[in-house]
Amino acid sequence: MPYTVSLIPGDGIGPEVAEAAVRAVEATGVLIKWDRVELTRKVIEASGGEVPQSVIDSVARTHVGLKGPVTTPVAGGFQSVNVTLRKRLDLFANVRPVRMLPGLKTRYRDTHIDLIIFRENTEDLYAGLEHEVVKDVVTSLKVITRKASERIARYTFAQARLLGRKKVTAVHKANIMKLSDGLFLRCAREVAREYPELEYKELIVDNASMQLVLRPEQFDVLLMPNLYGDIISDLAAGLVGGLGLVPGANIGEEHAVFEAVHGSAPDIAGKGIANPTALMQSSVLMLEHLREQDAARRLQAAIERTYAEGKHLTLDVGGAASTEQFTDAVVGAVAVSH
Ligand code: ATP
Repeated sequence: MPYTVSLIPGDGIGPEVAEAAVRAVEATGVLIKWDRVELTRKVIEASGGEVPQSVIDSVARTHVGLKGPVTTPVAGGFQSVNVTLRKRLDLFANVRPVRMLPGLKTRYRDTHIDLIIFRENTEDLYAGLEHEVVKDVVTSLKVITRKASERIARYTFAQARLLGRKKVTAVHKANIMKLSDGLFLRCAREVAREYPELEYKELIVDNASMQLVLRPEQFDVLLMPNLYGDIISDLAAGLVGGLGLVPGANIGEEHAVFEAVHGSAPDIAGKGIANPTALMQSSVLMLEHLREQDAARRLQAAIERTYAEGKHLTLDVGGAASTEQFTDAVVGAVAVSH
């Protein structure tokens, strides 16, 4: 029986990297029936600024999605699609493993970077509750609840234990936002007590940013509210070679949607030069979620082999290959990976 997975290519570079990821997954031999759903800026504008119900229905039916980016208008227009999907499908945890790929010539190439960001995915300043009190005075509500904070903390510590990790660092700004980030931290501390084998630390977000740049090797698992998670994810991506590389998983009790950290990258869309590694590595996470461990391992090994060889890398990581040439190399490497 093949698996059924909702495939949401998105827009911008989305369709290009989604096509590449599909080829890479199919090369592993795992049978997947793709339920293709169109979700682009145009589709959303045509449906009055809403994510069409058919998209939600597809993931609600298949329980698993592989998703490319969708353009979010800046300073106006419809609400971010990612935010809507995460809320509607209750995908409460955003998980982003950040690791160095072999052979990449990054500034940190001699540093061992292997960390996982666990980002709360449903509230915080992403609640989208903004309000103009009087002309030129605007408030934006930061919502932090015990329910959501405890849930992300429980998931993070449980995963850290499962993955044999050693240390969890909670990132916050509770010196300023004493109530909201204070509640987030209290929940993290309470859960931490149930995991005595895991070292637990706390870092204020500005210090965490500096420490990540200075000594990224000291980090293992990072736990944080939504907005810090967004910003720290891009910072961490920069440490290992950029947004073209880092994968992500949005996890809920019933559904999971796998997507790269990067956005729709309109500056390079349609040119055939986008790096599909981030969505390919998101597909590895998807295969693990489907319990296709062997296929996941082989695809990851194929990506790493392609990087170690370094002959077919895309422009963003210093190569000259197109999206397709890189994908051909990965597909070829899957065929010989055991
Ligand atoms: P969003 O707000 O949707 O997260 P963004 O504007 O922050 O999007 P991205 O669309 O992620 O940013 O792109 C930021 C920069 O990184 C762009 O210059 C883009 O070309 C580059 N970039 C992002 N993803 C890739 C990729 N897969 N391959 C190559 N370059 C990429």
